[in-house]
Amino acid sequence: VRLRPAAWYVEHDIELRLGTAARRLDPRGRRLELASGELLRYDRLLIATGAVPGRPALLSAGANVQVLRTLDDALRLRAALARRGRLIIVGAGLVGQEVAATAVAVGARVTLVDLAAAPFDTLLGPALGPWLGDLHREAGVDLRLGVRVTSVHGTGRIRALRLDDGAPIACDHVLVGTGVRPATAWLAGSGLEPEGVAVDAEGRTALPGVFAAGDAACPPDPLAGRHVSAGHWEAAARQGAAAARAMLGLPARPPALTVVWSDQHGLRLQRVGDPRGADRATVDGDLRAHDFTVTYERAGRPVAAALVGRPGALPAVRRRLHAAGATQPERKAA
Ligand SMILES: Cc1cc2nc3c(=O)[nH]c(=O)nc-3n(C[C@H](O)[C@H](O)[C@H](O)COP(=O)(O)OP(=O)(O)OC[C@H]3O[C@@H](n4cnc5c(N)ncnc54)[C@H](O)[C@@H]3O)c2cc1C
Repeated sequence: VRLRPAAWYVEHDIELRLGTAARRLDPRGRRLELASGELLRYDRLLIATGAVPGRPALLSAGANVQVLRTLDDALRLRAALARRGRLIIVGAGLVGQEVAATAVAVGARVTLVDLAAAPFDTLLGPALGPWLGDLHREAGVDLRLGVRVTSVHGTGRIRALRLDDGAPIACDHVLVGTGVRPATAWLAGSGLEPEGVAVDAEGRTALPGVFAAGDAACPPDPLAGRHVSAGHWEAAARQGAAAARAMLGLPARPPALTVVWSDQHGLRLQRVGDPRGADRATVDGDLRAHDFTVTYERAGRPVAAALVGRPGALPAVRRRLHAAGATQPERKAA
């Protein structure tokens, strides 16, 4: 998939260098070293190298074990799903859930394993974790929650995983979706954090002229009390635009509410705002019909909403939250 045709870059005076990795940052000389050894000078630099999937050591090898990040990963998973075998997904985050939903729909037998007893709260907020778990179960996903993978069986290929509750689960293919880490190891020695670059709300790092955005960047998160990568698409787009404005010396735009979405089991799931720390949740609509909105409040003020099966309602819900004064917590702290 190409986001833009090659001509677009020429028309906009952008030199596109593909197949070229950044290897080292020299902030004092304001130079970026490429894997070829070539040095590029910069006045301002944006770090947007994304993230790479992590893997527990137990699942680091095996011909039928994979992660999902690149096009090649996706093609490999598609080939495995076409065989409609037994798929174990380790990690019930966004990637694990979306693959589980797709895999059961194409006829695979799916077991979804997670260490957390309630892993579904993060996507739609605390009020909907149990509902989302039931949605997966009703679609035929075998959920194993609050368990850890303790051993793997098979040589070359994994034939089964054993969980700490004793249960062995036979498999034909394993997908590891246990989260990502910022792809910033190449920044070691530059003065920036190689485990994810700390930035302010406009993407500024601690180095002059150097900015970061997207999965590689860790903006302040006051609710978590530290700098954390947001790890989702809309945040990457919003942070990229904010960093671009700061790099050009333009004033910051007013803060916008984060939107996260996911398509699962034929439903559009959306969340606007940040429901962490909410002390009240009100449901409008019908949970069993998969057509509802949940509004989250903190100290009497609406701060976030989750929408299920209502993609068209998002702009109005966002306006309502803005009118009520909901802002991104990171902007409040900035
Ligand atoms: C399977 C999957 C499903 C997802 N589903 C959702 C979803 O439903 N909703 C949602 O909001 N988000 C989702 N996400 C997350 C979302 O895709 C990411 O948050 C977003 O792509 C981050 O954008 P980015 O530009 O920071 O990084 P990326 O899109 O990862 O881009 C980083 C780029 O930098 C390049 N790069 C890395 N290192 C170097 C280097 N040293 N030198 C040069 N180039 C380098 C990489 O090749 C890549 O092209 C999903 C992610 C995955 C993998």
